[in-house]
Formats: sequence, C-alpha cells, structure tokens
Amino acid sequence: EITGRKHFIRDIIENDIKEKKHETIITRFPPEPNGYLHLGHAKSICLNFGIAKDYGGRTHLRLDDTNPEKEQQIFADAILEDVRWLVGENDEDPWFEGVRHASDYFDVLYACAKLLVRRGDAYVDSQSAEDMKLRRGSLTSPGENSPYRDRTVDENLQLLEAMRNGDLPAGSAVLRAKIDMASPNLNLRDPALYRVKEATHPRTGDAWRLYPMYDFAHALSDAIEGITHSLCTLEFEDHRPLYDWVVAKCPEVRDDAWVLGCLSKAGGNPEDYRASPETPTPIETEPPLKPPRQIEFSRLNVAHTVMSKRKLAKLVDDRLVNGWDDPRLPTLSGLRRKGVPPAALREYAERVGVSKADAFIESEVLEDCVRDVLDESAARAFGVLRPLPLTVVDWTEADEADEALEAPRHPKKDFGVRPLRFGSDLVIERTDFHDLQAGEPPKGFNRLVEGGRVRLRYAYVVQCNSVERDDNGDVCRLLCSVERDTRAGAKGSGARCKGIIHWLRRDDAVPCIVRLYGNLFKAEKPSGDDNADPQGALEELVEALVERDVVDRAYDEPRSVTQLERNGYFCVDAAGSPAIPPQRLPGAPLVLNRCAPLKDVFGG
Ligand code: ATP
Ligand code: MG
Ligand code: MG
Repeated sequence: EITGRKHFIRDIIENDIKEKKHETIITRFPPEPNGYLHLGHAKSICLNFGIAKDYGGRTHLRLDDTNPEKEQQIFADAILEDVRWLVGENDEDPWFEGVRHASDYFDVLYACAKLLVRRGDAYVDSQSAEDMKLRRGSLTSPGENSPYRDRTVDENLQLLEAMRNGDLPAGSAVLRAKIDMASPNLNLRDPALYRVKEATHPRTGDAWRLYPMYDFAHALSDAIEGITHSLCTLEFEDHRPLYDWVVAKCPEVRDDAWVLGCLSKAGGNPEDYRASPETPTPIETEPPLKPPRQIEFSRLNVAHTVMSKRKLAKLVDDRLVNGWDDPRLPTLSGLRRKGVPPAALREYAERVGVSKADAFIESEVLEDCVRDVLDESAARAFGVLRPLPLTVVDWTEADEADEALEAPRHPKKDFGVRPLRFGSDLVIERTDFHDLQAGEPPKGFNRLVEGGRVRLRYAYVVQCNSVERDDNGDVCRLLCSVERDTRAGAKGSGARCKGIIHWLRRDDAVPCIVRLYGNLFKAEKPSGDDNADPQGALEELVEALVERDVVDRAYDEPRSVTQLERNGYFCVDAAGSPAIPPQRLPGAPLVLNRCAPLKDVFGG
C-alpha cells in the first residue's frame, strides 16, 4: 500500500517498476560519520525508507566512512541511534537491512583501482597539489595534461602499491582517473580517486595508508550493493557524469561472485592478490545487476537556523550551544531532547516534499507538524508559568471536605481524568492578571483585574477583591473570594464569566524550570560563518509549577509529552533533570522543554 505523497522521484520509480527494470527497488541513506544528523538528513531518510517501504523494496543504511581524519566513532553511534529513532523500526524489517560501511569495501575498491590502471583508465600523478590545481584550468579555460599522465601500466601499478604500503608520503602522489582535462565539467578533468592519508581508521585501523575519494567510493558502494536509485541532493548533479563513468568502468562490482572473490582474496593472502598481474575476469554465473541511477533533489533549508554539519560543529565547538543535542539545534538528537516525536518529523518530510526547486522552509512548518501529532497523543495538564499567588480568603476547611474536582486528560480521547483540588492557596499565571495601576488592560483582555472576576477552569469563578504589593509596588498576591454556585459541571455554572484561566493548588504542584525556545538565529538566512553568536531568543528560563500528573507520567514513560493547557507541548528534559522522580529528591530541579507552543489559546 502506497502511503507517501507522489513526487518526481516516485514517478520515475513507478515507471521503472512498470517496465520491470529491476527485481527489487533498493535505495540507500549514506551519511558520513563526521557529525550528527539534522533535519535535512531526516528528509533524506524518510525519502529513502519511505520508497523502500511503499514499493516492497529495501533501503541500506551505509556509513560513508572514507575520510578517517574527519570521522569519529561517536558520530557513527549517534547516527545509528537517530535513524532507528526516526524510522521507528528495527533491523528485522525487510526495508531496513542492518548497517553497512563503505569501509567494508576497501578491498573491492582497491581491486577496482588496479583494474582501472591496467585498462589505462587511471594513473598515479606525482605533481604537487599546487601544480595540479594550476593545470586544472577553470570554467572558462580548459585544463592541461599532467606530465605524469602517460606513465606505463607497470609504473602506475608499482606506484599504487607504494601508496598502499605507505612508501609514499601524503601529498606526494594521488591516483587519478584518466578522463578529459578539457571537459567543460570540472569533475571530469582527471578527478582524484585515491590519496595517501596517514590516518587510523575507526574500523580498519592502520591497514590502509591510502583512502578512496568520495565520488569513487560512493558510486562503487552503490553498485556493489545493487542500489537501483541513488538519491542525493542537487549539488551532486555535476558529479553524475563521474558517478556514471566510475560505475561503467568497473562493471565487475555488480557481480557478487567477483566482489566476494576480492574480499576473500584480501582476507586470505592480500600479498598474493596484490601481486597478481593478471586482470581479474568477472565470473559470469548470473547476469550482473543493472547500474544504479543517481537522481538529485533539492536540499532542505530552514529559516533562522543553520543545517550543515560543518556549521553545526562550529556552534558546538565554540560552545555557543551545549553540545550536539542542544534542543535549540536542528539536529535529530536536539529535536528528540526537545520533545519532538519522530512521527512529527516523518510528517514534516512529507509536507516539505521532494522536488528540484530550492526551498526555504519557515520554522513554523515543523511546529505545525508537532502540534498535529501531539494534539492526538499528548495528555493535558495545568502548568502555571511565572506563578502569582492567589489566596481564596473565604475557602474553609468545611469546603475542603466535599471537594473532588477532576479534569479530562484529553478533550476527545479516553485517557481518563486527572484529579484537581481547589483550596485557599492557589497560583495563576502572572500574565493572566492585569494591574490597573499600569493603565487600562489591552482590548479584549477578559482575564483577571482588581475588582474583576474570572473562571478558574474545571473549578469556580473567583472575584479579585484586593491585591498585595511588594516593596517595588508590584502585585505579589491576589486576595479573592469564591462564587460557590459556579462550580464546573453544576447547573448554570457556565456562561457567567468571559475569561477562563488555568490555576494550581500550590501544595499539589511540582516546582520546575521551563525552557521556552525561540529561533536559533534572528536572521532568516544566517550564514553561520559570520560566526557571531546565535543572537536569537536562544532560550528563556521560566519558573513554573506543574500538576503532579505530568511528572508521574514523565518518569513512567520517558519522552512522553504533555500539553500544558494554553502554554504548549512540554517534555521533561532528560539530561537536565534528576533520574528519579523529584518527589523523592526534594530540591532537585526538574526541567521541562517546550517543543511547540499552541496556536489557539483560550482565555482571551
Ligand atoms: P552536511 O552538509 O550537513 O554535512 P552532507 O550532505 O555532507 O550534509 P552526508 O552525511 O553526506 O551530509 O549526508 C547524507 C545524505 O543526506 C546525503 O545523501 C545528502 O544528500 C543528504 N542530505 C544532507 N543534507 C541534506 C539536506 N539539507 N536536505 C536533504 N538531504 C540532505
Ligand atoms: Mg557528504
Ligand atoms: Mg558534509
């Protein structure tokens, strides 16, 4: 059953299926473990996994770990955690088959390099990087051949071996494809395929002293895995001719037997294999897979934030944010910590769509998705931000005795009820009271003023008779009386008071700190390079009291999100809060993160 929205890539795939071009549709998501995944990656993940799921195919999660200087195991681990969280499925699913690594294929890629050399399609260049750059030419002028371009096959093989063995220092030699130094496409001007790097790889250790370039490794990894549709962002459009060249020049990699042969030879006795002068011949037991097809789509850009790993890394390294999972960042780990559910990100990926047009998405689009998902699933509760004490002077112990108020946990769903107790010692939000000494209330304000009335939701109408002020003259307590016949649910209790606000009984509520997030950057399209600090409303810390229900749920179901009525969706910040419920650890600060404000707020 097709659940995803149509777009040009799905059209291509549906057509390929109709023409029986492939047995199975196979896509892949190939992140480089040089940082954490972000919203842009979420788009790509949902695209690839969504296609595999809808067309009964598979998708491969492949870590593109070919540059050990920039990559780290912690990034690889974080990527796996994020992908699992986002797709919400486990390895058993047919459309998510375990995890692969480009480094699994180092032996195969190296065998391909030798094939290219033997066939005269690649050579070892000993020019300095500077000379290579000079001879590359520009968009308006053709390049110039390297003086080393016509080395013999034997010489090239020997030099390639020397690179492999670490006998040539970094920078002294690269393996280049022999294509066309006059091509109008700069990527085809004898691009580098391998360079020497004296770096220890997290998986292959010191086994290799040369590492493949992205275009070479990526195209061949796709071909080895039988990827049918290789979906990437538009900046790779110019690389597609090179991608196709690499795949076409090494058809052997589409033959499983040949690939396995390379791997077992490498495992058996690598020296034998590397010394063997003959060209390996493909074993043609089965027809080789069709070459993968690269298709480009536009990257996701979001207003008021930065998205590239490089820019995110800079914010983290400069300590302008507190790590990669800072809830202000558009990283998947940051969004998770903020309380954004994975279903909201999947919905987001659908809404932003897939096209070739450069899109700049408003930051509110994600909030809309979050609200749509959480409106259904989040339990409701009261949370009073910036609390202002309200004393009900005529509430007595006798009233207390017959008191049993309750409120639904969800307006539509059967989530049960939460108990509420009225009392004399209450709090309301400071912003729900308007001090008349500061002037007339804004138009349409029908919450509480001195001498006015307001309904405390699920309870009674109260009237504010007088206020107490602190030394600065600011209102610090409201003295109110209760209208007993207005009890919620009782006959004739409604329609007598315009304003409705939420409240809490102080001794029933749990104190906490609430983090309200704004945009990371004020600028709509921050360069992130100017490097100033993220000047936006980074975060606002606010004192609050919340219903105990919220806290109980947070510790029963980690990552559960609650709608604090009129204030938005909140989750307990796992990193910033105590690991055991605060009732049992008095004084430990409980921290709530707001993952989205509400759109429509009652109260007036
Ligand atoms: P960054 O510039 O953030 O480092 P990248 O493209 O270098 O991104 P990779 O780890 O290579 O990061 O990305 C893995 C996949 O995610 C690629 O197929 C890439 O095209 C895709 N991707 C990365 N950023 C975006 C984005 N903003 N929108 C859509 N897809 C993206
Ligand atoms: Mg990349
Ligand atoms: Mg990158």
